[in-house]
Amino acid sequence: MRRLLAALTLCVSLLFASTLAMAQTRTPSTLDIYVIDVEGGNATLIVAPSRESLLIDTGNSGAAAARDAGRIIEATQDANLHQIDHLITTHWHGDHFGGMAELAAKVPIREFIDHGPNVQPGELADTFLQKTYPQLYANAKHAVVKPGDKISMAGLDVRVVTSAGETIKTPLPGAGMPNPYCANFKPGDNNAEDPQSVGTYVGFGKFRAVHLGDLTKNKEFELMCPNNRLGTVDVLLGLHHGVSSSNSEVMVHALHPRVAIMNNGMRKGGEPDVMKTVHSSPGLEDLWQLHFSLLSGQEYTVPGMFIANTIDDQSPTMPIAPMAAPQPGPGVPPAPVHNGKAYWIKLSARQDGSFTVTNTRNGFSKTYRARL
Ligand SMILES: [Zn+2]
Ligand SMILES: [Zn+2]
Repeated sequence: MRRLLAALTLCVSLLFASTLAMAQTRTPSTLDIYVIDVEGGNATLIVAPSRESLLIDTGNSGAAAARDAGRIIEATQDANLHQIDHLITTHWHGDHFGGMAELAAKVPIREFIDHGPNVQPGELADTFLQKTYPQLYANAKHAVVKPGDKISMAGLDVRVVTSAGETIKTPLPGAGMPNPYCANFKPGDNNAEDPQSVGTYVGFGKFRAVHLGDLTKNKEFELMCPNNRLGTVDVLLGLHHGVSSSNSEVMVHALHPRVAIMNNGMRKGGEPDVMKTVHSSPGLEDLWQLHFSLLSGQEYTVPGMFIANTIDDQSPTMPIAPMAAPQPGPGVPPAPVHNGKAYWIKLSARQDGSFTVTNTRNGFSKTYRARL
């Protein structure tokens, strides 16, 4: 009897070991999205089940470029990538293209995608576009995209929905219903480059997500009114760092996202009016954030378990009242810094539309079941 038991135990453990080995070698069947902390900039890595990859933006410029490129590299390593197949630069602001040269020095980038020329003259972007960018794509593909263009990625439906100030005119499949939020739309202010953002739709089976770069309110209106040309999504990515020149109800509420993941910084985005719009968005189950935001305070923030990053010198308390965003210009005290270990938010989506979001700082993870 004892011998029989021993043999049985051996059988079971062999079976277990081989299943485990199979599980480790099998290619993942999920679409994985890494929302990487680049301190109020953008870097969002989208990895198809085939491991074909699309990176949207490369973080901040200047002294922060090496740090942000390093953070993106960590995510590519986690995803087991040896190259970046497609890189979309949403627009020519330093918090979106800043780490590109540093990143390209560390990992091959096969295709560079953008909206075309910079329309907001500035030393940083103009010099980059004249001198650095052509060298980076010299041995790769370079594509200037228009709304309606597809980005070919095996197993995914990836489409450009906005670019260079234009929007798709034909609704995405299943979209195009009248948008009830248009009646209360209030136009907003914006700079010249944000509205040029390349906006991207990603479909995987029943799972749907959009990343609109820093697309501003007036363009949100053009894209979503009078008919909602995007339809509804499971996940809204980015939200222009959670700043209030974007994120009107015509966009956020009409998309009806189950989950929003905001690429805000410690003192950038998460302002009360955006938080009110997001918190009151119909059908929203959770907002996840890359950072605590002083501009939210305790009054408007989500619970810390949904927030991926803190700061290097942690304050013992967080004020209840939101801090007013300082006006840009000389003499503004620097925002609290976070150069230490950074954490991404990882989303894994399945064909049936279910998905799991994980905060890698605290390991908190939540699965959103497929819609019936
Ligand atoms: Zn951070
Ligand atoms: Zn930005």
